[in-house]
Amino acid sequence: MLATALLSACATAPPPATRWSLVVHGGAGVIERANLTPEVEAQYRAAMQRALNTGGAILDRGGSSLDAVEAVIREMEDDPLFNAGRGAVFTAEGRNELDASIMDGRNRGAGAVAGLTRTRHPISAARAVMERSRHVMLIGEGAEAFARSQNLEEVDPSYFFTERRWQQLEQNLRANNLPIPPRPANAPPAPRAEFTYPDDHQFGTVGVVALDSHGNIAAGTSTGGTTGKRWGRVGDAPIIGAGTYAQNGVCGVSATGTGEFFIRVGVARDICARMQFRHESAQQAADAVIAEVGATTNASNEAGDGGVIVLDGRGRFAWAMNTPGMYRASLSAGGEPVVQIFADEE
Ligand code: ASP
Repeated sequence: MLATALLSACATAPPPATRWSLVVHGGAGVIERANLTPEVEAQYRAAMQRALNTGGAILDRGGSSLDAVEAVIREMEDDPLFNAGRGAVFTAEGRNELDASIMDGRNRGAGAVAGLTRTRHPISAARAVMERSRHVMLIGEGAEAFARSQNLEEVDPSYFFTERRWQQLEQNLRANNLPIPPRPANAPPAPRAEFTYPDDHQFGTVGVVALDSHGNIAAGTSTGGTTGKRWGRVGDAPIIGAGTYAQNGVCGVSATGTGEFFIRVGVARDICARMQFRHESAQQAADAVIAEVGATTNASNEAGDGGVIVLDGRGRFAWAMNTPGMYRASLSAGGEPVVQIFADEE
């Protein structure tokens, strides 16, 4: 009798709870309470919550971490709040040049693109490079031609234009005594009043790391880079091992910040190596490597700044930053969403 009862209990018992985790960033920088109006702060918090909803829904129905990473980043690329896709910062020549990368922790497959000007969703171009080419990184015209050959959506470059980023460019060029280029073709006419987003530092790069219920980790990052960049400058976001990394059983990382320092420190791979070989926790590794970024200087004696989001092989998340803020959010199966902006939020 007991045996029968046990048997039928087993037969009808639900499958073991699916475990998945998701962590998202929307860029780090000089994000201070005094600089954010309640309306703008609410917009960012809502956008981060949307990112959790989108990624969480995919992971919760057993979808792959790669699909979750791509879907969340596509949505953020379409959101003018973020420095990725629509809303990207401008180069000194007044163009939007977009970089992205994605990595599959199952086999360390990776794809990256840099300097796109027409592909609506750079993260999908990066995924296509990973899945449908023999290469890891494509740049400029060639990358765009490849994206076109994969039937990815193309837009007129003016699609990426936002007044906020244009005014940021003008401020940046004026401060550096550089000429201000004409407004891009097809951009809306200049408004009469200055735009009211009071940020004077570029931020808003987006990144996602996910662990799915099959145990697979994926990570992706997408950005317009840094305001007023010149000479084909490329930052860390499309560099595997700097801005993005994923390795099943070990870690997933996406970074944001002054890319030059993240490339030099090899941030994403270094965090994973610490976790793999020194058995540091995600938090210990993230803190140590962000401290290294902050201790690294360039020829102008500027130190690196920015932040990272990290998942370990079991989906425990960590984040770290040395900036006053980073838009960030996390969610795990059955857990409560966490959305934070300022560095001192707990
Ligand atoms: N890391 C990006 C870059 O250097 C910018 C950012 O994250 O804000 O291109």
